[in-house]
Amino acid sequence: SSFFDYNDTIASISTAWGEAGIAIVRLSGPQSLDLAEKVFKGIKPLKDTPPRYMRNGFLIDENGDCLDEVLGVWFRAPKSYTGEDVVEIHCHGGLLIASKCLDMLLSHGARLAEPGEFTQRAFLNGRIDLTQAEAVLGIIKAKSDEALRAAARTLRGELSKRIEVVYDSLLDLSANLEANLDFPEEDIPYLSPDEVLKRLNEISVSLRDLASRCKVGRTLRDGIKVAIVGRPNVGKSSIFNALLDETRAIVTPIPGTTRDIVEGMIVHRGIPITFMDTAGLRVTDDIVESIGVGMAQRALKEADLKLWIIDGSESLMQEDLNLADEIKNHPHIVAINKADIPQAISQEDLMAILPDSEIVVLSAFDKNAIVELKERIVRKLIKDSAINEGFNATARQIDMLKNVQACVDNAIASLHVGEPEELIASNLLEAKYYLDRLLGRSFDEDLIHAIFSQFCVGK
Ligand code: GDP
Ligand code: ZN
Repeated sequence: SSFFDYNDTIASISTAWGEAGIAIVRLSGPQSLDLAEKVFKGIKPLKDTPPRYMRNGFLIDENGDCLDEVLGVWFRAPKSYTGEDVVEIHCHGGLLIASKCLDMLLSHGARLAEPGEFTQRAFLNGRIDLTQAEAVLGIIKAKSDEALRAAARTLRGELSKRIEVVYDSLLDLSANLEANLDFPEEDIPYLSPDEVLKRLNEISVSLRDLASRCKVGRTLRDGIKVAIVGRPNVGKSSIFNALLDETRAIVTPIPGTTRDIVEGMIVHRGIPITFMDTAGLRVTDDIVESIGVGMAQRALKEADLKLWIIDGSESLMQEDLNLADEIKNHPHIVAINKADIPQAISQEDLMAILPDSEIVVLSAFDKNAIVELKERIVRKLIKDSAINEGFNATARQIDMLKNVQACVDNAIASLHVGEPEELIASNLLEAKYYLDRLLGRSFDEDLIHAIFSQFCVGK
């Protein structure tokens, strides 16, 4: 059947697999009521029951045997999750009975729903836009309260509403520019370059605000990755263990013992933080050790933040200076460790080589200092106030926003150097193209498939 052909009716078990109090089998499509009728027997048929009204009944198999006492409810198109006729049969939990119910519906002609197909139909029927559909996924996958709230904000349409405001002002401006171009002699209010610039700047500011909120949302959902780096024996594994509050990495005084990367995750203030304990980045002849070093370098690259550990009881070595050089252009925090024993270096020594860095002095054995370190890590990447303003956003959405921003910034740059209005108008058209894709007003099958295939079956 074609992509947009919704003459078929889909069915699946919409609750989690496994034993539970109840399981819900869901149908969506024009035959939903007819199909439900074949397996559900109540005092009255569902079709004579008002929509959204729970009807008590029995699940009856092909031999007329009663399998379970169940509840049936239906939603009339377009006032349902998918925008189509939807039926839910609530049977008792346990995989067997729900599977049996589903099998019977399939044998009567329902088609097994693909992952995310209910939500996909909701999107294609205009019940929700693409940002909302993706937020459904965010809600399912949320690992913390904060991430859940960010997804819920997007699902309520707060992100789309803000994008639409930008969209409208962009469209307005672009229509005005085009009209001036096409009918210069007509009576269309002429926008001075100053006025155009003013409006473009406003759009650019809104876009930046949106992008930063989306980044917060993504951080809440996906968390942050922190690579712990430093030369051997400075206390990386000790700090790693303290941060995780458990003994996971091998802590040892022999240089080069942590050969590969050990990972551990905590949730701090609603944000999942993954710590990676990396092998010392020494150049080495030992093959096994050099593999560890290679992995450490890759982990370094994908980390959102680098936590550079220094042994405060020893003076800085060439290796330290090399590391300082490597991390200075990435988000990082410097921790001078072993503050509990006599110190050979001070905070000032480090400020001399990394004047703009955040530097902490601590001991791996000091619990309070470790909590404070977690705080600093979170604050480094996400502003306090922002935690409650995040929007659930996917990498795709952040990408689209970046494209829109680039178009608007190009338009601003063109205006500054006095380029022809045609060029500015075409920049705005391109921006509109990306906004259309962001909201899902224009899309292709591949994109839709890529998004909805991430859902589980039954959603
Ligand atoms: P790594 O090679 O960087 O992972 O360093 P380790 O965590 O294995 O620690 C090396 C040695 O330093 C071990 O003997 C630790 O007990 C010791 N150490 C780590 N942190 C501290 C600290 O804050 N103070 C003191 N006194 N010793 C520490
Ligand atoms: Zn170690």
